Amino acid sequence: MFKQARKVSGIKSKAGGRSTKAPKRVYFFGNAKAEGNANMKDLLGGKGANLADMTLVPLPVPPGFTITTETCREYNDGGQKLPRGLMDEVRANMARVEKAAGKSFGDPGNPLLVAARSGAKMSMPGMMDTVLNIGMNDKVVDGMARLTGNERFAYDSYRRLINMFGDTVMGVDHHHFEHELTAVKHARGARQDTDLDVDGLKEVVRRYKDVYKHHVGSDFPQDPFTQLEHAIEAVFKSWMGDRAIKYRELNDIRGLAGTAVNVQSMVFGNMGDDSATGVAFTRNPSTGENKFYGEFLVNAQGEDVVAGIRTPIPCERMGEWSKKSWSELLKIKDILEKRYKDVQDFEFTIERGKLYMLQTRNGKRTATAAVRIAVEMVKERLIDEKTAVLRVDPASLDQLLHPTFDPKANKNVLTRGLPASPGAAVGKIAFTAEEAEERVGGGEKIILVRRETEPADIGGMHVSEGILTSTGGMTSHAAVVARGMGTPCVAGAGEIQIDAKARLVKIGDKTFGPQHFISLDGATGEVMDGSVPTVEATLSGPFKTIMTWADKHRTLKVRTNGDTPTDARVAREFGAEGIGLCRTEHMFFDPERIHNMREMILATSTEGRKAALAKLLPYQREDFVGIFKEMRGLPVTIRLLDPPLHEFLPHNERDQQELARSLGLSLEQVRARVAQLHEANPMLGHRGDRLAITYPEILEMQVQAIIEAAIECKKQGIKVLPEIMIPLAGTKRELEFCKQHTVATADRVMKEKGTKVDYLYGTMIEVPRAAVTADEMADVAEFFSFGTNDLTQMTFGYSRDDVNSFLPDYLKKEILERDPFQSLDTGGVGQLVKMAVTKGRGTRNDLKCGICGEHGGDPRSVEFCHAVGLNYVSCSPYRVPIARLAAAHAAIKTSAAKGNAKKK
Ligand code: PEP
Ligand code: MG
Repeated sequence: MFKQARKVSGIKSKAGGRSTKAPKRVYFFGNAKAEGNANMKDLLGGKGANLADMTLVPLPVPPGFTITTETCREYNDGGQKLPRGLMDEVRANMARVEKAAGKSFGDPGNPLLVAARSGAKMSMPGMMDTVLNIGMNDKVVDGMARLTGNERFAYDSYRRLINMFGDTVMGVDHHHFEHELTAVKHARGARQDTDLDVDGLKEVVRRYKDVYKHHVGSDFPQDPFTQLEHAIEAVFKSWMGDRAIKYRELNDIRGLAGTAVNVQSMVFGNMGDDSATGVAFTRNPSTGENKFYGEFLVNAQGEDVVAGIRTPIPCERMGEWSKKSWSELLKIKDILEKRYKDVQDFEFTIERGKLYMLQTRNGKRTATAAVRIAVEMVKERLIDEKTAVLRVDPASLDQLLHPTFDPKANKNVLTRGLPASPGAAVGKIAFTAEEAEERVGGGEKIILVRRETEPADIGGMHVSEGILTSTGGMTSHAAVVARGMGTPCVAGAGEIQIDAKARLVKIGDKTFGPQHFISLDGATGEVMDGSVPTVEATLSGPFKTIMTWADKHRTLKVRTNGDTPTDARVAREFGAEGIGLCRTEHMFFDPERIHNMREMILATSTEGRKAALAKLLPYQREDFVGIFKEMRGLPVTIRLLDPPLHEFLPHNERDQQELARSLGLSLEQVRARVAQLHEANPMLGHRGDRLAITYPEILEMQVQAIIEAAIECKKQGIKVLPEIMIPLAGTKRELEFCKQHTVATADRVMKEKGTKVDYLYGTMIEVPRAAVTADEMADVAEFFSFGTNDLTQMTFGYSRDDVNSFLPDYLKKEILERDPFQSLDTGGVGQLVKMAVTKGRGTRNDLKCGICGEHGGDPRSVEFCHAVGLNYVSCSPYRVPIARLAAAHAAIKTSAAKGNAKKK
């Protein structure tokens, strides 16, 4: 038997004029022997590898073979043609299947029917094609009827093949078949498919053949190998189908060769009342409870369970139907978990009392279930702690940290945007931040709907349940701020038209006013009509356990980006080990402070500016005291003022007039200053340390507030570790200039107060030049914090606020693999980070390096940060657990890789 396969695998094919040996494309399994195994998922797909492995156990698996994923690649690379020689190999393996099954393909006297199923390395449920009952034809159907003594079953199988083949392989719309089925049922007074008798089914077969001929232009193929060849091709083709492509895109599945095709002899769950079919999980995939979870249907085929035509019965009740099958199933459940050491999702069929396994795979599960299963499997000694930590996808923890929509609720999805900040939000529409604040003050729940938000909107954003914008990307202002606040946000929902003047939002052909409720799912980007019910998130015991295990293994520290004592407190509860970025600009938007800020901006002399800044000083000091207290004993990195000044000025005439009046200026003077501060490209303009260099008094006020706050805390016995951070520096000279003013101010304050406090002076690395000259920067800076939002913006030259106009195309056309503002571009921006760390530590070997761009909370980026030796990552409070777990994943994987390298 095996000899034959080897001979077949040696078929010569002609490629590019040269004779080359064709690769082995087909792997047989059956009768407790298999050419594949569980480690061959790349080549055989998940399903194929596991079918081979289950055969080896041995579990009762109907014999078959797997055509490799590489063959799918050949198929697509060769202009969607089956590679030459493939069908010879298929025929040879069919002969082995026939022998193993003791039946013959196309032989009416003893017919073998097969299924052709897709199966990529990663499971893509329902995304690709399947054809069942291949081998059935006008003669075989009669043989089948004779052999089984069940004519009804034979004709039912035949009509299913014609339907599936016509629909899946030949593209005949399913409803044409459905139409005929309904007509026959109607004419014969049958309510369900199962009510049709043999004559009814024969009539259906006749009509299906007519539908086929009418739409395809030829008769339904009677030759079994023709059916098989077309079915194999259809499965390969479905790899590049729209559904499959979209699924891979959404689930970040990349770099796979294609799908395998599993051709397997059919077993039938619809042979009578001693037959059944079902699907099961070894544990509950929704809650994680260690309880067998499955459903089955008596006298049915697998598709009936999925299609929901009949209501399946819970497996726990299988014993009432067949004690033998139930106990067999429980035994199989234990074998599967012991072998694969993970929850299995499997399909089985019972044909006339005999149970067969059709597939098994690691079961998809919710985050709650993943955490519970991982922890319990350690207790059951199935896996160790490290494996348990690796079993939980860091990104999925989002589900555990925010309230979510009730999965049972009805949803009317109006449109989708970017899932910018997770969580469920329900509220009425408000069009401006002021309106949001006012209405929330009046007791309403609000969703702030804006084209894009700006720093001045912070108050309105803060009080809103959720934020919806029609432009902007994942690091747009709205997204960054919302994540920081833990407020759900859907950004860049391009289909939404906002008419703030008329106070109307148009989505598709529907228009909504301010009294209308909408619901946002920040984890999926869905915008839904009405108020969808939510359920509160709970931090369960196993979740804590997993985090404790994660902390044991990680070496990267995790800090938070936080601007308020509340942020600090939330983040600390989630395990933050300091603040990695306190953006001070957000502190100036409170009505009183913004007034002083504007006064400072409008002042025409240094003295005037200093006077206004002196009024801001007590507020700043109070801010820092609050944060230092919450973070007692942990480092706090405070970034000096970063945004361009024009962002703080009013842009509409009414507000400008009011400002002019309150400052004793003319409207023209205010307007002139607004015009003067206008920049064509403010992101690359007068911002960051450029402000401190033009107006050192701003820096001096902030440093004074920091040092005074630190002294005040120290006096109260609170340990503070302030880190003063300069934004946007690109040259050593800038850092020197700012340091001189920082040190002079700090020294003066300490002298005045008669108390010394320690602090660090450092810089953000967010301009490519700073990264390239990191050795020089480290001469002055005691720490680096990579501002990868700006560093990405400036390295690619993509405006972070406008990227949504073209990035979706870049992703769809695979110009970029992923959004570089969400996941660090390791090949480019990451290389600058790596270079800067190496160069910086070349100058100062104890240089502390961290990251505070949005990437600090992205698991893939965190793994990179670990690899290049950063000391910490910093992310928004709600992403702290995600970063902790991702850091543990990175450490465990790296040490495993090192261990493997040593062994070799
Ligand atoms: C950055 O640029 O990465 C950063 C953290 O700063 P901001 O997002 O405030 O520009
Ligand atoms: Mg920045």
